[in-house]
Amino acid sequence: MKVVLLGPPGVGKGTQARRLSEILGVPRIITGDMLRRHVASDTSLGRKARGFMERGELVHDDLIIAMIRERLEDEDAREGFIIDGFPRTVAQAEAFEAHVTPDVVVALEAAEGELIERLSGRRVCRECQAVYHLVHDPPRRSGVCDRCGGELVHREDDTEEVIRERLRAYRRETEPLVHRYAAKGLLARVRSEGGIGEVTRKLQAVLHDRRLA
Ligand code: AMP
Repeated sequence: MKVVLLGPPGVGKGTQARRLSEILGVPRIITGDMLRRHVASDTSLGRKARGFMERGELVHDDLIIAMIRERLEDEDAREGFIIDGFPRTVAQAEAFEAHVTPDVVVALEAAEGELIERLSGRRVCRECQAVYHLVHDPPRRSGVCDRCGGELVHREDDTEEVIRERLRAYRRETEPLVHRYAAKGLLARVRSEGGIGEVTRKLQAVLHDRRLA
């Protein structure tokens, strides 16, 4: 099962990628998390990526393509995966398709006001990357992850100004991929509304319809 989750920042790709990966037992590949680990460990990739991420701009294609190519060679990704955050440009899509044909590309969709509201209230566990929302999905103890006890942080790029730049980058660079995969007959559209569990069920229905799960 080779599943790509496309969609603007804040639409719930990471949350859904984690849930589906646990339910279906396939690895998740989340480029934003991979890059944040590089930044936290101060690797050479992390140093190159940091400034772009802080400004809400995309990291250069060649760096991302090399990082993903290496990840897809890992043993656990041979049979299938759920990818969130890649491809994000036409150049990335072309490099990806030279190696892999996805079974389905799901475009998660929500209104722009909703995305901004979700991102500005989002808190993420520093340790396990679990995602919370101050209003819609708060942790049991303020600032502490329910799952692992890690510290919950407000991502530096979840501020209004950077969110707007990330949305601009999405519209300019990534949205064309929605049309690309529609033209290839690989696209399924899912509205990201009505609660996390309901969206997961809609995604499972898409995979079921395509006989992938
Ligand atoms: P995300 O967690 O998916 O919102 O990604 C956070 C940041 O990582 C983005 O704003 C970009 O700076 C960078 N990033 C993640 N994935 C990619 C990608 N496929 N291409 C370029 N930049 C990326």
